[in-house]
Amino acid sequence: MTIQERLAKVHFFQVKPDLSSLDANQRQALAHCVNAAHIMTDVYFDQVYVENKRIYRELQGRSDAEGKDLLRYFLIHGSPWDAYDHDRPFIQDVGEKPKFGSFYPSDLTRDEWDAWLKAHPEDREQLESNYTVVKRRNDALIPVSYSAEYADRLDEASKQLRQAALLLPEGTLRSFLGLRADAFLSNDYFESDMAWVDTDGNPFEVTIGPYEVYFDAPLGLKAAFEAFIALPDKDASRSLSKFTPVVPDFDLLLTQEFNFHPKGKAIPLEVVADVVRGGEARFGYMFVAYNLPNDRRVHDIKGSKKVFSRTMMEETFSTVALPIAERILPADTAAKCVFGNRLLFVLGHELAHGLGPSKIKVGGREMPFEVALKDLHSCLEEAKADMLGIRLLNYFRSQNLMGDEMLLGALLTGITKYFQGWRHGFTEAHARGSLIEYNWLKTANALHYNSISKKYEVDPERCLDAMSRLSTEFLNLQIAGDYDRAKAFVKQWTHVPPEIPSIIEDLKDIPTAVSPVWDLSELK
Ligand SMILES: [Zn+2]
Repeated sequence: MTIQERLAKVHFFQVKPDLSSLDANQRQALAHCVNAAHIMTDVYFDQVYVENKRIYRELQGRSDAEGKDLLRYFLIHGSPWDAYDHDRPFIQDVGEKPKFGSFYPSDLTRDEWDAWLKAHPEDREQLESNYTVVKRRNDALIPVSYSAEYADRLDEASKQLRQAALLLPEGTLRSFLGLRADAFLSNDYFESDMAWVDTDGNPFEVTIGPYEVYFDAPLGLKAAFEAFIALPDKDASRSLSKFTPVVPDFDLLLTQEFNFHPKGKAIPLEVVADVVRGGEARFGYMFVAYNLPNDRRVHDIKGSKKVFSRTMMEETFSTVALPIAERILPADTAAKCVFGNRLLFVLGHELAHGLGPSKIKVGGREMPFEVALKDLHSCLEEAKADMLGIRLLNYFRSQNLMGDEMLLGALLTGITKYFQGWRHGFTEAHARGSLIEYNWLKTANALHYNSISKKYEVDPERCLDAMSRLSTEFLNLQIAGDYDRAKAFVKQWTHVPPEIPSIIEDLKDIPTAVSPVWDLSELK
């Protein structure tokens, strides 16, 4: 594929924040947070690949048309690997994407890692920490904290957040920014993660720090830096907030069925408009919503916060999801895929991330289940969120908070999402999780592909039943924390069904991705 062909699959759109709700100090504080977000991008470049910055600089130095296109595409992915094309390199001679990022020595093998941990239990906690890199010194594996490894830049990011805090009145955002500034230097993110859950998007939303571990595909331990700066959409936030008061009741039902501890009661939720993104949040497969922090100690004590990017959700829905739904579903079924129902699906998914077990016991040792499930965790957790999310929406329906048509519409937009993801390959966590879901639904006769009409027939009641049963499977896998059992389950359900490749091929005229072009001219 030429670079022009790659660029042609991406739909670019401009994002210009409406700053009219902010006073002068708030704007200045926002500008400092934007600076800190850019620093996250800088650190992230290094986390992805040790040579990443050199490649970036070389592209910046090129004045030919191809060089400019390559640079533009590099800035979509934050690396020379195309997340929309199975992570294949789009720049010559860079080779395969390093599966470990730069978090570990490049020649580390799984056997060496496991053997080292076993022989050095005293170092295990630091080596497995989300916030350390692992270096080889002589023959030893040594943990180095992020605060030391990226000291110069985290120091600067810390200063930017502190300056922003000083410009804001007393309140939740001000205290979060101060604590996060501390965390960048101390490498202890707990207090600031707790404080972030209390922030409510006023006067704006700042999510910044090391969060997701997707990039550490083999071990699922090391967090990549990212930032998301946004402005509140108060009306949309209110319309979703009516669902959250009944979530603890649903959580209680789950805790009774599966015998784990109930979660903290706080379920803050914000719908926001993007200002800018930094680090992992800025590149490749861009999120439309998230549930953070990932630290399950915070979930148990306090709960977690959900943030929905209306900007990215609407653009992705209208440009990518809706055209796919119209292609693979009969017209009357596709008509139920409206933006409001997609929003509900995403709501269910994000709320479900905050539900389920937290600490489990494996071989007498207490640990978060993601550590026990290693590389399988991300895919199981994403698929769990889909299935448990629909089960939660079904609970909302039983409480008369939504009608049958809305539930069906949400479910259908969820199925459409599988195809959205698969167009980028089958290895990414969400895409693998979708394979489990699809194969499960097919086996349950809830989903049938008519190869003559080239449309899916969906049986809503069977879907709801099968999805609920599958959510039970995922919860049981997480509670057991048995890696081998989880591996057998994933192997059984993640084959690529024979009909899928040609269906994906037929979608090739629809944009693969949307990419924001940030306009921050009013912040200057
Ligand atoms: Zn998710």
